Amino acid sequence: MARIFCIANQKGGVGKTTTTVNLAAGLAKVGQRVLMIDLDPQGNATMGSGVDKRKLEYTIYDVLLESAGIAEARVRSEKCGYDVLGANRELAGAEVELVDVERREKRLKQAIAAVDAEYDFVLVDCPPSLSLLTLNGLCAAHGVIVPMQCEYFALEGLSDLVNTIKQVHANLNKDLQIIGLLRVMFDPRITLQQQVSEQLKAHFGEKVFNTVIPRNVRLAEAPSYGLPGVVFDPAARGSQAFVEFAKEMVDRISDMR
Ligand code: ATP
Ligand code: MG
Repeated sequence: MARIFCIANQKGGVGKTTTTVNLAAGLAKVGQRVLMIDLDPQGNATMGSGVDKRKLEYTIYDVLLESAGIAEARVRSEKCGYDVLGANRELAGAEVELVDVERREKRLKQAIAAVDAEYDFVLVDCPPSLSLLTLNGLCAAHGVIVPMQCEYFALEGLSDLVNTIKQVHANLNKDLQIIGLLRVMFDPRITLQQQVSEQLKAHFGEKVFNTVIPRNVRLAEAPSYGLPGVVFDPAARGSQAFVEFAKEMVDRISDMR
């Protein structure tokens, strides 16, 4: 059975997509079978996996509206070593179209169930909001990975997400938990970042992943080549950190089982 994780944070530009595609590539590299689902109409995780979002026959939109299954809609990213269920602007309409349907927040969960046995990991890249799309992700998942920058308002922004996760846990998905907080774009030379990092550990203890992702320009350059940094430049510090993180996730799920 696949372990399903949302990469979520309602704050924009914190590194969700970078985390999703690089974790997917890192997991593939250590021999895991991975499906990456892009749940953001921006389609950045799709493009960043070398899949052209404008040329897809089916996307996550069709899956949520039940006009295609994941088995038909997914494509293989040969270069990256994982499968991709892509997204594009069309997905923005799904929010409205789903409003009146029954069990609208469980659509993704149902769809994943049909391909569950084919994967070790399903990773869901969420949009920067706590919308119905993100809710579909949270209802489908066993856990949430929260990438965050160690900045002044980091903890404050976290409380909305933590509350949403608590509510989903209580009402819709009793499996859901925060797997961990991932410190990203970290620069150890900045004292404030070290301080916030310490605060995070004091507050959340074990829930803070051991791996820290450094700020690394190769990770930022990779998407313009349609690749995760892990594939684009495996020797880069940021890429190595993501492979370490993939190994940490493999260890965590063996603890979860
Ligand atoms: P959105 O909320 O819009 O979906 P996001 O949370 O998915 O954004 P990303 O797109 O992953 O965030 O990252 C935001 C920007 O920061 C991108 O330009 C990305 O290349 C850059 N970036 C992410 N992680 C790193 C890193 N470790 N080092 C350097 N740049 C990074
Ligand atoms: Mg993103």
